[in-house]
Amino acid sequence: MNKLLIATNNKGKVQELQDLLKGLNIQLVTLADINLNLNVEEDGATYAENAAKKAVAFARASGLISLADDSGLEVDALDGAPGLYSARYSPKPNASDRDRRSHLLQNLQGKPHPWKAHFHATIAIATSDHVQIVEGNCHGEIIPDERGKGGFGYDPIFYIPELGKTMAELEMDEKNRLSHRARAVMNAIPILKGIFSP
Ligand code: IMP
Repeated sequence: MNKLLIATNNKGKVQELQDLLKGLNIQLVTLADINLNLNVEEDGATYAENAAKKAVAFARASGLISLADDSGLEVDALDGAPGLYSARYSPKPNASDRDRRSHLLQNLQGKPHPWKAHFHATIAIATSDHVQIVEGNCHGEIIPDERGKGGFGYDPIFYIPELGKTMAELEMDEKNRLSHRARAVMNAIPILKGIFSP
């Protein structure tokens, strides 16, 4: 069976991607499974550049078809910040997800509610000779108090009004029906089917 490398060190993303891709007849391999340690600098000007850079680097290092995700949270009242810099959005050295959430809330103090925002995900799939890119978005708003224990990153302060819940209050299968990453994976499925069962 053909193998697909889930090319991310982010544990939250690995779990979600494994669940989202499990229905396909593809053997999913993680970086831990093949003991691959590679730090790819995310210095692109767009999500697509970063996702492609990661997918290509991991495909070259492993010899496997690789899927990488570059994602972020874009808050309207902050002109789209933290965006591409979501994973690094805190002045603290070795900052945690909690530090990044408090930094975001601090920067939103005094801005009129609702704090509309969306998550964005770009997924790149790299084979030995080319890269394909797909995207997905999920809209909601930022709330000042954390709710829920699931997910990762900004999930406890990302509220989805239609559900009356934050992303962290959803079970993984619920998050995987509507998230930015789920929508990007939905767009990736025809590409994966083309690669793995042409
Ligand atoms: P990167 O794609 O490695 O640059 O990191 C994306 C960052 O965006 C993560 O570290 C999180 O802070 C944030 N992010 C992306 N997707 C999600 C999500 O599904 N929930 C919460 N935060 C997310």
